[in-house]
Amino acid sequence: MTTRRDTTPAISRRHAIGRLAVGLAGASVAPLEPFAAAQRGAGAAAPRRTVQTVTGAVDPVTLGFTLCHEHVCAASAGLWQAWPELFGGRAQFVRTAVDQLKQARDEGVATVVDLTTVDLGRDIRLLEEISRKSGVQLIAATGHWLDASRSMSARTVEELTEFFVREIERGIEGTDIRAGVIKVANGATIDAFGEKVLRAAARASRATGLPISTHSPGADRVGEKQAAILESEGLGPSKACIGHTDNSPADYQAGLIERGYYLGMDQLPRGGPAPPGTPLQPPNALAWTERYAQIKALVDAGHAERMMLGNDHSIAMSLQPTAADRLRLAQNPDGILFVSRKALPALRQIGVSEQAIRTMTVEAPRRFFAGA
Ligand SMILES: [Zn+2]
Repeated sequence: MTTRRDTTPAISRRHAIGRLAVGLAGASVAPLEPFAAAQRGAGAAAPRRTVQTVTGAVDPVTLGFTLCHEHVCAASAGLWQAWPELFGGRAQFVRTAVDQLKQARDEGVATVVDLTTVDLGRDIRLLEEISRKSGVQLIAATGHWLDASRSMSARTVEELTEFFVREIERGIEGTDIRAGVIKVANGATIDAFGEKVLRAAARASRATGLPISTHSPGADRVGEKQAAILESEGLGPSKACIGHTDNSPADYQAGLIERGYYLGMDQLPRGGPAPPGTPLQPPNALAWTERYAQIKALVDAGHAERMMLGNDHSIAMSLQPTAADRLRLAQNPDGILFVSRKALPALRQIGVSEQAIRTMTVEAPRRFFAGA
């Protein structure tokens, strides 16, 4: 399969960023208009020639089997620096994560999208080291999750856009490792900061061509609210993946996918029964069988090319007490391999074809990241 050439000259992107900087220095201007107009003139955003991983730019065809929503380590900004012994210390954690990702590589996983943003304690050198040692390609995220600090809450849409574009065009945390995707997140309702992040993500996507991946509680139909804000910024549906959609009403899934959005069926391990006495699952969580049946229904309706699969697994995570986190890991002993070991066999069993599985795990991620 050949890739289409990137028809966006680098100079145009630089021009767009230049315009952005001018816009940021001025008052309330619409800094991205020339670039946006060029995009509209072309009918759609031009395909990207390369995809940024933490070890450099790669041809989209090398992504291979891709898990669309995972976390090597999800904590809070600055926590590990302040508390180095957390997770058994860095060296021990690196060994654990490398072991698990090597296992994943041996079982066919080529690329993992790590949607860990600055407020989730992203450590870009850690991701780079683990990617190099494991041989799994990692795509890192800019954007923002739900844990806004006072300082981030104070930022304007323009400032957030500048920060996201910086991480896409220049590098993350003072390195030259660039983001390959933009993450956004909202709770059941979209608050003022969440809306700023959505608008900034849309503007950064339009300036750079990078796609957006969302955290969207589907039971509350949050993806529809996000889509309205992204579209009000001029973003095309094919530039966004509405995540966590495997725990959502069928009409919500169908509506978004028919509009052209990608759907992240990316919390598949969570369809199991919660261990007694633990609040790990939302009370309205759909069971595995329901999630797989919904995926099959969308495949049968011709939508495999707009679905991507994932576990939303965190190899380490500090967002709940240690005892609860042990239960989380005990509940899913396959970890980041749940999709390939459990979900795919279950999908095959109910009649999802090998071709459809390949489309969801290889071709859809490639197209999403290539912008084609
Ligand atoms: Zn996640």
